[in-house]
Amino acid sequence: MARKHASLKRRLLFQYCEGVKNFRPWAVNSFLCPVCLEDFSASKEEEISVAHIIPNASAGKAVTLLCRKCNSFFGANQDRWFGDYLRMRSAGGSLFDLPTPARLTALNDTKVAGWVQRRSKDGPIEALVIRQTVPEDFDWKSIQHCSITHQFYDKYHIVNVGALTAAFLAYFSVFGYSWAKSWAANIVRDQIRHPSEQILAGFCFRVPAHKGNSLGVAAIGGEILCPYAAFDDRFVLLPPVDWERFYERVRSTLPATLRWQLFGRLPEELRKAVSSLIIGDKLLLGRSGLPSPGELCVYSPSFETLVEVRRTIDPRGAAPESYQEIQLS
Ligand SMILES: [Zn+2]
Repeated sequence: MARKHASLKRRLLFQYCEGVKNFRPWAVNSFLCPVCLEDFSASKEEEISVAHIIPNASAGKAVTLLCRKCNSFFGANQDRWFGDYLRMRSAGGSLFDLPTPARLTALNDTKVAGWVQRRSKDGPIEALVIRQTVPEDFDWKSIQHCSITHQFYDKYHIVNVGALTAAFLAYFSVFGYSWAKSWAANIVRDQIRHPSEQILAGFCFRVPAHKGNSLGVAAIGGEILCPYAAFDDRFVLLPPVDWERFYERVRSTLPATLRWQLFGRLPEELRKAVSSLIIGDKLLLGRSGLPSPGELCVYSPSFETLVEVRRTIDPRGAAPESYQEIQLS
C-alpha cells in the first residue's frame, strides 16, 4: 500500500512539474503548491504531500498534491469540519448516528465540551461531558430537559469553506495550473487560506436534489453561467473569467432558478471528462484530452503565459435537455 502510494505521488509530481513548464519553460523539477504558490524542488519529496480532495475522514478517494504545510493546515481546519459533516450526511443526516461520537459544544446554552452518540438505532442518546469544562455553578437538574448544541452549530461557514477547498482542489486536479493561476482561483485561494474569516459570501448553496460528488456548469437565473463543484448537498459556485464581484451578482439575482449540467463524477471519470463552456467570445473551461494537469484547460487573462488551446473545443457547451434544475431562494 505504501509503495502504491509512493508511486502515485511520484506520478502526480511528474505531471505537475511538467505543468509548471507550461508557464515557466526554464523550470526543472519544480512543483508549485497551488494554494500558497511556493516553489518546491521535486527532489524534496518530504515537503510535498498527497492531499485528499474530499477529506479522507469521509472516505474521499480522489487525490492531488499540495505542499505539506498547506495540506496539514486544511486537515486541522476546514477539512476536519467538512469531513465530519459529510460523514454525518452519509450516516443518514443525524448527528447522533455518526460512526464515532459527535462533538458536543454546549448544554442548555452553557459552553461545555464532550461527545454525544446513539449506540443503537432508536436507542437512548448518550452524552459524555468533560467535567473540567463544566462551570462549577452549572445546574445539573436543568438537563432533564436538555438542549444540546452540536458541533456544527455556528460552523456552517467553515463547513462551506471545506466544500470550497474541495472544489478548488478538484479543479486543480483536473485543470492543473491553468486553473490554479487563474484570476478566479485567486479570490477562492484567499478564502480557503483564511477559513474562519468571511472573505466570500454566497459561494455555497444547499441543494437537496443533488446526490454524489461532481463538477460541471451551473446556470443561475438564466443569466449567470459558471463552473461548479457539488459534494453531497453542498453546491459550490466558482467565479467565471472576468467577473468582478461575481458573488455579489449571484446574491442579487436570488431567488432564481439554478440549473446545472455535470461534466462527470469524481474521481477518475472526471479526468476523462469533456468539458466546455463559452461565455460571449470567452472560453471559460476547455477540455482535458489527457489526464495531465499540465494540459491547458482554463482561459484567464491573469494566466502568466500565452494561452494555447491544444484540443478543439466544442462550442455548444452543455446540452440544455441534460440540465437538472431547482429553485434557489
Ligand atoms: Zn502550500
